[in-house]
Amino acid sequence: MVSVPPRRLLVGVVLLLLLAAFLEGEAQALEASGQTRQVQRESPFLAGKRILLDPGHGGDDPGAVQNGVKESDLNWLIAKELATFLEEAGAEVLFTRTEVGPFPTPRERVELMESLDPDIIISIHCNAFPSPIWRGAQTFYNPEAKDPRSKELALYIQDALRRLTPTTRHANRGIDHYILKAAQVPAATVELGFLTNPEDLALLKTETYRRRAAFAIFLGIAHFFAGSPVPPGEEG
Ligand SMILES: [Zn+2]
Repeated sequence: MVSVPPRRLLVGVVLLLLLAAFLEGEAQALEASGQTRQVQRESPFLAGKRILLDPGHGGDDPGAVQNGVKESDLNWLIAKELATFLEEAGAEVLFTRTEVGPFPTPRERVELMESLDPDIIISIHCNAFPSPIWRGAQTFYNPEAKDPRSKELALYIQDALRRLTPTTRHANRGIDHYILKAAQVPAATVELGFLTNPEDLALLKTETYRRRAAFAIFLGIAHFFAGSPVPPGEEG
């Protein structure tokens, strides 16, 4: 047994209590009432932040399509859910497009990114692959991003996705995305699941999953601005 000075013991107990409260908050956050409380708890870190959301595709470009489900529609719905959480926490949310258009070209999206001068950029997509076995939400970053904190942003988001959704994937650098290349500020692309995987497609069609996925992205963004310990980042 090691004797611990009372003051250090007290600090330890307080830290443990804070950690327990934090973990409890994350567990409760799976339900709507818990989400609302957690959003309020994160607001000191998010108030006044300018966050640009880029719902992928739109208009003549539906992105991936599976059984009549268009990626562009899912991207919009998830971005909308995310915007609600962010705005409740006091952030200013900007979009590269709306639900009904206009739908900017890639070049126009980059111009928007530059003129709107956001603090961070989150691009929202869903994945597709020839084989149906691939599944799970995954966050991507550019290892040569103009702002190297892009990797941290991706790690925070992926960590929250792994805790709140069925994904077992890790943040990944393997994407060649013009948004991530052009961004002057921390930027990540989140692919919220594979339309080509039956389980993922069934989840993506439910409001519950879309809200939970959006909430995970929200938590990742909050941890980024809060400067929480950066989760370990395996590739995969
Ligand atoms: Zn896409």
